[in-house]
Amino acid sequence: MEFIIKSKALYTTWVFYKPQRLLFDAGEGVSSELGNKIYGIEKIILTHSHVDHIAGLWGIINTRNNAMGSRNKKLEIYYPKGSTNIIEYLEFIKKMNKGLRYRLETHELNLTDTINLDNKRFLKPFKTRHTPGEVSFGYQILEKRKRLKSMYRDYPQDVIKDLIVNQKKDILEEYVANILTITGDALPIPPEFAKNCETLIHECTFFEESDRKIRNHTSLPELKKLVKATFPKRLIVYHVSSRYNRQINKVKNELRLEFPDIDIEIVHPEKVTKI
Ligand SMILES: [Zn+2]
Ligand SMILES: [Zn+2]
Repeated sequence: MEFIIKSKALYTTWVFYKPQRLLFDAGEGVSSELGNKIYGIEKIILTHSHVDHIAGLWGIINTRNNAMGSRNKKLEIYYPKGSTNIIEYLEFIKKMNKGLRYRLETHELNLTDTINLDNKRFLKPFKTRHTPGEVSFGYQILEKRKRLKSMYRDYPQDVIKDLIVNQKKDILEEYVANILTITGDALPIPPEFAKNCETLIHECTFFEESDRKIRNHTSLPELKKLVKATFPKRLIVYHVSSRYNRQINKVKNELRLEFPDIDIEIVHPEKVTKI
């Protein structure tokens, strides 16, 4: 299992990414759903300050201090610079939870910042368009990798092996692979941030364009256009409005038919989804 996700537009959204021990957003109910797994969170990465994405912070911080588990482990929280509501909320939580047994670090993020996750992977924010006057970021997890330089890619295996073993030539080049792109609440993100990524987690609040009154969330036709332009290996659709509860399977099947080469999941608004 890589992901545990709960996402119901307007109510709550959080995404636990186990391989890197990250929690993207912290909507209401996150600590009661994750239970003891909250001790597995090393970093909380917030996309923006709307209450359905941050309300569960207090619960996590408080429960981690009191429940049974490794109470001394440090917890880091990152948020977009200029998120006034998050800053004030964190100040309030710190005031209410004096004497924490663990170190709680809060960091504001600039678009030029990167966070190292291990010696290969790092996290990078990018700007998204959501609500005017509200700073909002999406995030990429990127990984430094090595591959054969293009001129060697057609060489027979044994020749390549010989070149590597005997280090006759510098035949490898470094490149950066996009492991995960997650949007938070947003209009379709610029394709460059999801191009050929392994997993794209994109919001799609509205299946029907006509249901959207203000243009600050993605609609299904817009998402399909983006998928055609980026072609991720896997697409996880989240932040769906609960008005579509009965259409989840139908839309999932439609998407799978339209994009047979992409692994597609839709996070049901009423369920905790494990992927
Ligand atoms: Zn939201
Ligand atoms: Zn929002």
